[in-house]
Amino acid sequence: MNDKNKTIAADLAAGVSPETVIRCDEPLAPHTTLRVGGPADFFVEPVDEKDLVAVLRFCGEHKLPFLILGRGSNLLVRDRGYRGLVICLSSPEFARIEILDAKIRAGAGARQKALAVEARRAGLSGVEFLDGIPGTVGGALRMNAGAMGSETFDVVESVRVMDFAGNIRELKPNEMRVGYRCCALLKNHIALNAVFRCMPQPPAEIAARMQVFSEKRWSSQPAAPSAGCMFRNPSAIPAGKLIEELGLKGAFVGGAMISIKHGNFIVNGGSASAKDVLELVAQIRARAQAERGIDLHPEVEVVGED
Ligand SMILES: Cc1cc2nc3c(=O)[nH]c(=O)nc-3n(C[C@H](O)[C@H](O)[C@H](O)COP(=O)(O)OP(=O)(O)OC[C@H]3O[C@@H](n4cnc5c(N)ncnc54)[C@H](O)[C@@H]3O)c2cc1C
Repeated sequence: MNDKNKTIAADLAAGVSPETVIRCDEPLAPHTTLRVGGPADFFVEPVDEKDLVAVLRFCGEHKLPFLILGRGSNLLVRDRGYRGLVICLSSPEFARIEILDAKIRAGAGARQKALAVEARRAGLSGVEFLDGIPGTVGGALRMNAGAMGSETFDVVESVRVMDFAGNIRELKPNEMRVGYRCCALLKNHIALNAVFRCMPQPPAEIAARMQVFSEKRWSSQPAAPSAGCMFRNPSAIPAGKLIEELGLKGAFVGGAMISIKHGNFIVNGGSASAKDVLELVAQIRARAQAERGIDLHPEVEVVGED
């Protein structure tokens, strides 16, 4: 760690409570499901909303770029890592799940799986499609994550958001510019928690539906490290089918390979670098454009420096 960053970390620590975690030179690969990428200059887990506000103010005053990190299951971090501050809402304060009659309030840092499991335990149906998505509630809101014919904002009643100046509001979905795999408002706001609308149903019926979803998912999706679907589905054809038709399944660059099981997944065989993955992405896009005239757009967000 260089002296300048040491001083910045000490200044930040002086303005927040001791429970807020602050680390320097934090490797980001273990914080992502694809498991590639370099370190963040600073990695911060604010203990509560008050400290989150203090961290945002600090970033503003010191002109430090920052990135909100969930489970890193839709992120590709470049090999030289992130020059700035990575903020992770993983403290218990941000991961709380509360049952409110037929509704559930879930913190942005809670895992989507935890939300689905708590709902099942409480006999509340509606969020079981989130069970197999390996991200957080915050990531589900930002990405409007979806599976099995449902998407996150189908069941969202309201979201508590903080802007980058620290102001908090509770918003309805129609105030948030929500679309396919995107909630535009959350590009410049932080989701703190959300209320999900559910329907009472016997836990055994919910469990049976989750089992069907799980079998469907694992019959078509690789288990190796990945960032899920690499590309958004173009209107003409699902991206995975297109990549399969181009004969690209199994193609690889270094340790990164297009999954044999699902053409839209790039898997890390263990030794992949971000550069390998990005080179493979470029090759797929070039072939899709040259042979089918289709411009594939990454769904996975690429951050950091080469
Ligand atoms: C094996 C596998 C299967 C997957 N299957 C699916 C699927 O079926 N359907 C689907 O939609 N996706 C799927 N994904 C992609 C991914 O899991 C989802 O997009 C997920 O919702 C991302 O959540 P995350 O916490 O990992 O977000 P991250 O990857 O950490 O972040 C994604 C984006 O959300 C932002 N963000 C995170 N938290 C917040 C917050 N609190 N406030 C504001 N912005 C925030 C980040 O800054 C970033 O821009 C899959 C991924 C994998 C690896």
